[in-house]
Amino acid sequence: MAAQVITIDHPLVQHKLSLMRRVETTTADFRALMREISLLMAYEVTRDLPLKLQPIQTPMAPMLAPMLAAEKKLVLASILRAGQGLLDGMLELIPSARVGHIGLYRDPHTLIPIEYYFKVPTDIEDREVLVVDPMLATGHSAAAAVARLRQTRPKSIRFICLVAAPEGIRYFHKQNPDVPIYTAAVDDGLDEHGYIIPGLGDAGDRLFGTR
Ligand code: URA
Repeated sequence: MAAQVITIDHPLVQHKLSLMRRVETTTADFRALMREISLLMAYEVTRDLPLKLQPIQTPMAPMLAPMLAAEKKLVLASILRAGQGLLDGMLELIPSARVGHIGLYRDPHTLIPIEYYFKVPTDIEDREVLVVDPMLATGHSAAAAVARLRQTRPKSIRFICLVAAPEGIRYFHKQNPDVPIYTAAVDDGLDEHGYIIPGLGDAGDRLFGTR
């Protein structure tokens, strides 16, 4: 199967992303928009989750009602730190999801990701994992995070970001052709520091107000 890039082109997602991109958007607004957009993206990313009919009782009658089929809850794996922004909104829509954290930082000279933290549910083998990180830039962090995650043998992996660069998509899918990428936009490319152009700047700094 060809590697998949699914662009979420819902008008509300596109509008909110444009607001996030604007340089004058405040930290508080950026954070609120990230939460809202992640709710909408969670809705799209989970649209093909299998359902199974389960007997329930309404106040009026018994019925067979569709419920999520997976016996084990989803795992949302956040690539620190900007992944936290997407994670919070997604958890509102999928509150019973388990949460993993993957800590990587980019060496500013080589742009190579270095792992400093990794914690995921112990029974991850039976679970589907949604990896979240707003910016798929060079793809190095995303690929390193997914390579590390694969060592824990999850049932499946999907990658969710807000903005992707074509270079990042290529790099990521070369190593992970089986992992679909869900994104709100595919931008023009990268600058010499590995930032996405036009992008939205440093997602972590904008989310946490650190610059
Ligand atoms: N990380 C970000 O936060 N922004 C970019 O443009 C690239 C990587």
